[in-house]
Amino acid sequence: MNYYSLNNKSPKASFKEALINGLAPDRGLYFPESIESLGQDFIKKIDQLSHQEIAFEAIKQFVGNEIPENSLKEIIEKTLSFNFPLEQIEDNIYSLELFHGPTMAFKDVGAQFMAQCMGYFNRQSKTSNVTVLVATSGDTGGAVANGFLGVEGIDVVILYPSGKVSDIQEKQLTTLGNNIQAVEVNGTFDDCQEMVKTAFLDTELNSKKLTSANSINIARWIPQMFYFFFAYKALKDKSKEITFSVPSGNFGNICAGIMAYKLGLPVKHFVAATNINDTIHQFLETGIYAPKTAQQTISNAMDVGDPSNFIRIQQLMNNDIHKLKSIFSSYSFTDQQTKEGMKKLYKNASYVSDPHGAIGYLGLKKYLKNKSLHNTNGIFLETAHPCKFLDTVENTIKTKVEIPLQIKSILEKEKNSIKINDYSEFKSFLLKS
Ligand SMILES: *Cc1c(COP(=O)(O)O)cnc(C)c1O
Repeated sequence: MNYYSLNNKSPKASFKEALINGLAPDRGLYFPESIESLGQDFIKKIDQLSHQEIAFEAIKQFVGNEIPENSLKEIIEKTLSFNFPLEQIEDNIYSLELFHGPTMAFKDVGAQFMAQCMGYFNRQSKTSNVTVLVATSGDTGGAVANGFLGVEGIDVVILYPSGKVSDIQEKQLTTLGNNIQAVEVNGTFDDCQEMVKTAFLDTELNSKKLTSANSINIARWIPQMFYFFFAYKALKDKSKEITFSVPSGNFGNICAGIMAYKLGLPVKHFVAATNINDTIHQFLETGIYAPKTAQQTISNAMDVGDPSNFIRIQQLMNNDIHKLKSIFSSYSFTDQQTKEGMKKLYKNASYVSDPHGAIGYLGLKKYLKNKSLHNTNGIFLETAHPCKFLDTVENTIKTKVEIPLQIKSILEKEKNSIKINDYSEFKSFLLKS
């Protein structure tokens, strides 16, 4: 399988090259040259397939023959070592829980898959160390750090906005040591992301083999489509129309959902639910894409003002805004509304949600408001365990949240990071290390 750059000014890349490059040399995002539907038979027999079998069938065309089938199956086995329960919340409303992985946020699947693939290629051709750069608004850092921890031949550098991630998130990315280094940036997530992009283009850093592990990387982005197939498998009544609501920041997860749709998953509509960072909602209203500086919210993993993956969504819909609007909506919610959503979920369904999942729920309810519900199943993605946003959750629903053991043990560890203010400081750190 070849990948081309959405800026169309770079040579085509193989799966391996696109994985290692992260971003194409012309700063464009990589996109698969072809996408083939899995066909009706696959969808019809999905109940009889394991998660691993579904994942293998869905992703093999995107890897092609660069990883042999057996090795790809092993990679998938390691990636999918936990559950993805679909919890009923109301009549026809479900929560797809994506937080049962090692760092308790949905990014674990993409991060593990990418780390396993890079580990595979590194074993094949022993070369010099690769440095993975990753900017995080909260959960990516922990998931990537965990996925790559101890993977031979790979150093990981994580940039995060100082004071803008939760305590647990910060501990998850600053306490691992080994081949993982955390860099604390005096700025926003967008600043972190910009530094990563600039480093890739900086010819003075050419001697370092740099790659990214953000959701722009195809190996992080594409496996996220598994969730949508798993949700479909878990639904008992498959006769109704399905709407997915995805709490969205960089729009990688929802873009993977639309990829699943392209592969033949019967989805009626996608809702991108966001916090007040509503660039895409505005775009759908006005047709004008006007990126903004990210504003800080209680759903910090979605504080993104210029969502990288939206361009891929447009490509999947042939850059046709009318076609896009027929399957895709976006709604934005304030922190106050988010808290009300969390309270409602707790009061009516005894469901403790994190702020991101609550926004997913609100987006779903808003979209379905005028639809005939007896004909619809609505699924929102619950993207993080509520304990990752402990203070917000406990103060909102006035109840103690149980902290799972794997998180408790991290809280006692000591934070280890280096602080920087701008790109030049970042660059000298990279050159020294
Ligand atoms: C990253 C993240 C999101 C946003 O996902 P995107 O793919 O960037 O849209 C939502 N919720 C949580 C908890 C996250 O960590």
